[in-house]
Amino acid sequence: MALCTPEFAAEAAIIRREVSIDFADSLRESGYLGDDCDGIVANTVNMFRVLKAIRFDAPMPLVGGTSLYEWYRSLDLRLHIVDDFADPSIKVSYAVGNEVFMMASRMRSIADALADGKGAPGVPRYFLRQTSAGIRGVGMIAGVLVHEARHPAPGGDANHTCPPNDASLDEGGSFALQYWYFRWLAEHAQLTHEEARLAQELANDIATTRFCDRL
Ligand SMILES: [Zn+2]
Repeated sequence: MALCTPEFAAEAAIIRREVSIDFADSLRESGYLGDDCDGIVANTVNMFRVLKAIRFDAPMPLVGGTSLYEWYRSLDLRLHIVDDFADPSIKVSYAVGNEVFMMASRMRSIADALADGKGAPGVPRYFLRQTSAGIRGVGMIAGVLVHEARHPAPGGDANHTCPPNDASLDEGGSFALQYWYFRWLAEHAQLTHEEARLAQELANDIATTRFCDRL
């Protein structure tokens, strides 16, 4: 998953054609935006790159297939990376209609969490990783995208039915999909043993904190 190689540039070009992504203009001015090699653009492309790389060995609940990337593309969404550095009133990622809005600060923290000092800064060596600030990595950001993409999807609810949580897992809302995402990563993807353990921890965390019928 090294960034800034000819292979990455070629894959990035395909992804930019296959999914709609735009970046707030102010990110370019502040220097956070970066390019295919580093920064927010690279991290955003890499998020889709890992979704494309993951093939579950069993169909994922609510998604119905084994590819999150194909599922995401079928929804025909537009992803906007918004500049919460410039506008601190933006505190959450959200979705309205088929528009998904994700915070630039989150897209940036992938690189910050994943640079391990041995390689170039921003090279995502890990999909999920335990850090002193919590579990980080491109797998976390992809989980946010999966959550937000569920809101406008058939069966998803634009509003959390037990704000800020969902009423139940069975309801199949955004937290349900995020739960199944981490559980399927733990049980049906080809992660390292440590990453599978972290994914299971994240699934358990959602199961015990995000469904009102279990609180
Ligand atoms: Zn939500």
